[in-house]
Amino acid sequence: MPAPTADLMAPQSQPVRPFTQPPSWHSLAQEERTVRRRRRMRSADLLVAAAWTSVAAAIALFFASGGAATSTGPSGIVTAAGIVAGLAATDLLLVMLVLVARVPLIDRTFGHDKALAAHRRIGKPALSLLLAHAVLLTLGYGLSDGANPLRETWQLLTANLDMTLAYLGLVLLIAVVVTSLVAVRKRLQYEIWHLVHLVSYAGVLVAVPHELSAGAVLASGTPERVFWIALYVLAFGAVLIHRFVTPLLTSAEHAFRVEGVEVIAADVVSIHLRGKHLERFGARGGQFAVFRFWTARTWWHAHPISFSSAPSRNRLRLTVRVLGGGTDRLTRLPTGAFVSVEGPYGVFSDRTRTAPYLTAITAGIGVTPVRALLEDSALEPGEATVLLRAGDDGATYLWDEVTGLVQAGGGKAWSMTGHRPRGVKTWMSAAAVEHQVTLRRIFPHLLDSDVYICGPQSWADLVAADCRKAGVPAYRIHLERFDS
Ligand SMILES: Cc1cc2nc3c(=O)[nH]c(=O)nc-3n(C[C@H](O)[C@H](O)[C@H](O)COP(=O)(O)OP(=O)(O)OC[C@H]3O[C@@H](n4cnc5c(N)ncnc54)[C@H](O)[C@@H]3O)c2cc1C
Repeated sequence: MPAPTADLMAPQSQPVRPFTQPPSWHSLAQEERTVRRRRRMRSADLLVAAAWTSVAAAIALFFASGGAATSTGPSGIVTAAGIVAGLAATDLLLVMLVLVARVPLIDRTFGHDKALAAHRRIGKPALSLLLAHAVLLTLGYGLSDGANPLRETWQLLTANLDMTLAYLGLVLLIAVVVTSLVAVRKRLQYEIWHLVHLVSYAGVLVAVPHELSAGAVLASGTPERVFWIALYVLAFGAVLIHRFVTPLLTSAEHAFRVEGVEVIAADVVSIHLRGKHLERFGARGGQFAVFRFWTARTWWHAHPISFSSAPSRNRLRLTVRVLGGGTDRLTRLPTGAFVSVEGPYGVFSDRTRTAPYLTAITAGIGVTPVRALLEDSALEPGEATVLLRAGDDGATYLWDEVTGLVQAGGGKAWSMTGHRPRGVKTWMSAAAVEHQVTLRRIFPHLLDSDVYICGPQSWADLVAADCRKAGVPAYRIHLERFDS
């Protein structure tokens, strides 16, 4: 255990040059960052507007092409409500697919984790609308046929193969949403959850025949049919291209192979990869990729892993802490093993900086993207301040490299080791809390900084909350989540 004073904070380096006034580099780099940020905001607005417009257009097309005329009387109104719910649900399901397709524009605009979070948020409303679609149509048709809901359900289910497949799709999507609920997901092995999740593609696809054949909503030759076919092609095309074709081409072009595995600590290894033409790979320090290591023991589990140093022309380095069986097997990778790659992904890089100063706060293995980000940033004296946090001296992975980089860039690195005090909601060590250390004391330029945070989930959330409380605007807080 470290001594209590060392537990608080110790400067790991001193500024190379004393820094007082922001020099001229601020204005130049700042202009570029402002332009980039405006561009991202414009893309974000356009993408969100496109998603909502597609839902609105789907409903408007229905009403414009005769839906309004048939929405009369109790059965007509209930049936129309059921159709609208189904159209909105299907549109949202396709938006969800696009969000997980890893489309470069979406990744560059929002980041992969935010796209996934949006995908998760839409899941429950989409399923509710789908259930409403089934219930309302059953009631609406029942009202017009004079059949009770149970008989009507049976009639619909057995009407033809298209309808049976539509019910199957509904059941599959219910299974996907249920396994995504936090409580259930935590109990499932990642691979099982992932496999069930892949079923959602089938769930959406098996419902297509009933959409095209049932009723006159998407009748042949209508604008609605063209609109929906275009949406399906767009969503499934995005998945096919960005999740299958591009990764295949990327892996073939760069032909990554394991060059060696280096032990960093008892439970941490660095995996050195060698590849070709990495200047075309387009990776930035701070980003991650999804790696699959083609050995008999590891090929079936892909891992998202950040680069732990800035990619060079022919080399990549990953630093991995053993968490479960999958990462444990990575510690024994043989030299020469082929590695396929999806990526690079993520906005945890200096491309998303908006402020003159760079602040980074990391804990444990969360140091990896920050290490690469610092290496890939052209730092000016005084620009970067880094706080390295660890529960104990055994978790100080890559600290010497980070402090070296910060020092070379004329910045300041601090360390804070020691566990958090019991019963206090804080991300700091007990000693730091006792000495009333605050973010503003560690980072004098905090409010003029972009803050990059990476570490265990609940810890990182506390750091982000502390930053917001200190006055850092949300768009300047960049969190990398290792739990996806
Ligand atoms: C963007 C990102 C960057 C990461 N960078 C690093 C890094 O630099 N160094 C490092 O040590 N770890 C990193 N991780 C975490 C790493 O991916 C997991 O620790 C690892 O995949 C766990 O696999 P496992 O089989 O050992 O454990 P398991 O027991 O199978 O999984 C443990 C947890 O890891 C997550 N996980 C597992 N596989 C995947 C997957 N294919 N996709 C998404 N999440 C998965 C799940 O949330 C799961 O609950 C990163 C994760 C993400 C999302």
